[in-house]
Amino acid sequence: MFSLGDLYQEVIIDHTKSPRNFGTLDPCNHDAEGFNPLCGDQLHIYVQVDAQNTIEDIKFEGQGCSISTASASLMTQAIKGKSVADFKQLFASFHHMATADLDEKPDEEALGKLAVLAGVKEFPSRIKCATLCWHTLKSALEDAAEPAKTE
Ligand code: ZN
Repeated sequence: MFSLGDLYQEVIIDHTKSPRNFGTLDPCNHDAEGFNPLCGDQLHIYVQVDAQNTIEDIKFEGQGCSISTASASLMTQAIKGKSVADFKQLFASFHHMATADLDEKPDEEALGKLAVLAGVKEFPSRIKCATLCWHTLKSALEDAAEPAKTE
């Protein structure tokens, strides 16, 4: 049996070594950059949203620590094919998980595989690494003029 901590390590290493949905997207009708000055993580997220507000495709590029890369990789997997409304709900669940009390169990039903990232709570300085991709995707979907920042 894996503990959530072991699973956290495994998943982070796996997604850092071979990030899913890594690269640029063409066509893409929304994109945004995100920056986490605390750690130096940089992301560029590309999304293609169809007329029904479904996130048809999503990719990301960037340079950052293993947590920011793994989190973006996991997020793109979780979000691809979902609606923009689903994204907002997942973002709220993820944000709650990343900032909840240490002993609060993640809502695995809502979060699925993303629940392994609950491990970042043990490293408060890394929480922004894990949430950067979510802020960046939100900026992309809102066509924000400014890059997303965690500060
Ligand atoms: Zn980082």
